[in-house]
Amino acid sequence: MDFCPDCGKILHTEKDGKGKTILTCLKCGFKRALETDEQVTFTEKIEHDLVRELTTVMNESDIDSTKPIKEMYCPKCKSKQKVSFWQIQTRSADESPTRFFRCTACGETWREYD
Ligand SMILES: [Zn+2]
Ligand SMILES: [Zn+2]
Repeated sequence: MDFCPDCGKILHTEKDGKGKTILTCLKCGFKRALETDEQVTFTEKIEHDLVRELTTVMNESDIDSTKPIKEMYCPKCKSKQKVSFWQIQTRSADESPTRFFRCTACGETWREYD
């Protein structure tokens, strides 16, 4: 999480036309580009936290009984498995929900990348 050096508000991230991430202050208009190294760490941290949060909240029986299951490729088993899936609204309500998958064979959980 980054804060505006001018007014102290939380900076929002957005993409410019070239796919580079820009941090923007919605209050005073401050902008700066996110460095490549920083961007990688930032994204990985969010996804890691998110997956950990999801896996601690849900236990196996909940997932198996309430989530739809389909056959798809598991990156950990490296083969087709029965995988349960669900959607979560991860960020602001105007963004489309993120889909998560969980392999019923090995318990690996991952999100859908677009
Ligand atoms: Zn500001
Ligand atoms: Zn698996």
